[in-house]
Amino acid sequence: MKKPIFALIDCNNFFVSCERLFRPELANRPVVVLSSNDGCAVSRSNEAKALGIPMGAPAFKYRQLFEANGVVSFSANFELYGDLSKRLVQILTAITPRIEVYSVDESFLDLSLLAIDDHEQWAKDLRARVLRDIGIPVSIGIGGSKTLAKIGADIGKKDPNSGGVCDLYHISLAERQTALNGIPVRNIWGVGRRLAPQLQAEGVANAADLAQLRSARARQLMGVHGEQMVLELNGTSCIPLERQHKPQKMISRGRTFGEDTNQAHVVEAALASFAAQSAFRLRQSQQLTRRASIFLNTDRHKASYRQWGSEVVFGAPTADTGQLISAVVGAFSKIYDKSAAYHRASVTLHDLVPDSVFQVDLLGQASPAQHGLKVARSRAVDALNKRFGKRTVRYAAEDLASAWEPRRKLKSPRYTTSWDELPKIKPL
Ligand SMILES: [Mg+2]
Repeated sequence: MKKPIFALIDCNNFFVSCERLFRPELANRPVVVLSSNDGCAVSRSNEAKALGIPMGAPAFKYRQLFEANGVVSFSANFELYGDLSKRLVQILTAITPRIEVYSVDESFLDLSLLAIDDHEQWAKDLRARVLRDIGIPVSIGIGGSKTLAKIGADIGKKDPNSGGVCDLYHISLAERQTALNGIPVRNIWGVGRRLAPQLQAEGVANAADLAQLRSARARQLMGVHGEQMVLELNGTSCIPLERQHKPQKMISRGRTFGEDTNQAHVVEAALASFAAQSAFRLRQSQQLTRRASIFLNTDRHKASYRQWGSEVVFGAPTADTGQLISAVVGAFSKIYDKSAAYHRASVTLHDLVPDSVFQVDLLGQASPAQHGLKVARSRAVDALNKRFGKRTVRYAAEDLASAWEPRRKLKSPRYTTSWDELPKIKPL
C-alpha cells in the first residue's frame, strides 16, 4: 500500500467568514457569531481575537467591550453555514473520493493516489479556487499523518508569510523540527486541556519535544494514544482516514428555551419538535430505536435547581415520528409540575438497531405489515420535506407553541437556502 499523504482543508473563522460573504463591508472589522440564545461567542474574526475576546466568551460579560470597539455580532445561522459547508465538500469530493469530512469546517483528503508534482502549489491553487467559487478563506496543511496535516493548517492560518498553506511532507527532518518547535503542546491534535499540563510537567513544551519523547514514556503518560501521537508527529500515519461516519450509538436533540416556562403545551411542543428531529436523523442513519428518554431542567444558575428524567421502552423498534412524539409527550405528562420554570428539554433515542433487522417481537406487539405502513408514511413525509423545504409537512403537536424557540435576534438572512431571503442587488 502507498504511504498516505494527507491534506487538511480548514475554513478560517468559518461562521464569521460565512457572514462576511454577504456583508463585504465587514472585512477587517471585529465580528463574532453567538451560540444559541445569543449566549457565547462561537466564532471570532481575527480582529475580534486581537481585542482579547476568547472562544466561548459570554456576550453579556463583554457587552461594553463590544460596544466600545464596534464589534458586530450575529446569531448563529446554521442553515447558511451548513449550505456553504456542503458546497466546499462537493468541490473536495470531486478531487478525490478519499475524503473524511471531519467537521462542518474541516476535511481531510488522502492525496497519495493523485498525480500531483508540487503539493504546495496544488494547495495554493485549491485555496484560490475555493475563495473564488465559494468565497470562504481556507488554510491547508499537508503531512504524512493527520496530526501533521492539522499542524500544517494551523501554521498556514497563523503565519502571514505562508500564503495560507504549509507543506510538512516535502521538507527535511531539520525543517520539520523547526516548524514543530513553534507549536505549543496544547495546540496538538488530541492533547487538549487535560493532557497539556501533564506533558508540560514532563518538560514537553512543544510539538518538537513531543516528537522526541521515548515511546515507552509516551505510553506510560497517555496510553496507546500517546504512543500513536509520537509516531504521527514523526510522519508515520496511525490514524487512518475515516471515510464513513460510524453509526451513532444514540441520537439526541434538545435546547435551552428562549424563555423559561411552566406551560405544559409549550414544553410539549418543544419535546415534539425534538422527537421529530431525532426521528428524522434516525431514519437518515437507517436505524430504529428501542428506547426514548426525555430530560428537563430548570435554570442551573437560579436557586432551587431541579431536573427530571423519564423513559419509554418500545415493544418493537421504531423510527416513526408519530409514535415517538406520542411517547415523549406521554412521558412528560406523568412528570409535569406546573410550579416549575422549565429552562431546557431534550429527547434522546437509545438502543439503536439497523432498520434491516426489524423482527416480530416475542409478545406479538409488532406486526410487520403495520411497520411497513409506518415506514412508507415516514418516507413520504421525508421526501416532501426534502423537496419543498424543512418542516413543510409536520405534526400538529410541534406547532402547539413557539415560545420555547431560542432567541436569535441577530440572525442574518438564509441567503442561499430560502427564496424569500435571497440577497438583493441594488442598481448603481
Ligand atoms: Mg476552522
